[in-house]
Amino acid sequence: MYDLSGKVALVTGAAGKGGLGRAIALRLAQEGANLAVNDLDRADSRRGSLDDVAAQIKALGQSALPVYADVTIADQVERMVANTIAHFGRIDILVNNAGAPAGKDRVPVVELEESAWDLVQNVNVKGAFLCSRAVARALIAQGQGGKIINISSQAGKQGVPRYAAYCTSKFAVCGFTQALAHELGSHRINVNAICPGLIATERIDDMARALAPIGISPAAHRQAMIESAINKAVLGRMATTGDIANMAAFLASDQSEFLTGLALSVTGGASMD
Ligand code: NAD
Repeated sequence: MYDLSGKVALVTGAAGKGGLGRAIALRLAQEGANLAVNDLDRADSRRGSLDDVAAQIKALGQSALPVYADVTIADQVERMVANTIAHFGRIDILVNNAGAPAGKDRVPVVELEESAWDLVQNVNVKGAFLCSRAVARALIAQGQGGKIINISSQAGKQGVPRYAAYCTSKFAVCGFTQALAHELGSHRINVNAICPGLIATERIDDMARALAPIGISPAAHRQAMIESAINKAVLGRMATTGDIANMAAFLASDQSEFLTGLALSVTGGASMD
């Protein structure tokens, strides 16, 4: 549908078994891209591993390079991008998907610890900045255009109680997207953000644990979160990782060549801006 053959994409935060990063990486591979897949170098069997993702990409007939790096550390990001280019000979697409774990940050601002705030801003905002800076430099030097796709959130357009750190970071990602789109347009580099509604990845288990009111089990609260998301969506269901991966594939392709600086809601009509 979207021909990405010959293109090389880097997707951050891609190890999670049911995570958005993995779904996007596999979708880009289905369209013919070769993939560098990134995550933290920390074993977490619940999360899955980059080796699994790489094996799935290879099963689709594409090349895959696992690149462990912490996106908040500039040296590691520079090395990740250099290794990607050394391995594949080029880079065309960056998907800034890595997200700080949901947990300690999901409290009212008056209870929010500075360290929880900092972690969310570091991974979600500084990580997107460092990866975009390194990849944009490479794309400019390559001189053949490119695509940068930032994963924001529905919470990047609308404030939500107990999500202050997260909302702030995702609003920032939308602002960063616009500024960078201005700067890179003359290089034919498109920069867009995707704002998904709630998706049932491993992340929402962590959110349910953090947000469950006293006396309500995390499982019951998770179900309530899902029901609320379904009720708010005009299209009568919650978002899937496939919905977001479809949008990422479109934004990575030539078919979106006249779109830049946008923050596209993929929420089934739960938000219409
Ligand atoms: P997730 O928590 O399952 O995955 C995030 C991944 O990022 C994990 O694999 C984690 O190890 C990795 N990561 C964390 N810190 C990192 C770092 N410093 N360096 C490299 N990797 C790091 O989340 P998900 O649900 O798959 O979400 C992916 C993205 O989509 C996030 O940016 C999230 O904010 C966004 N999003 C998710 C939802 C949802 O409902 N799940 C909705 C809107 C937006």
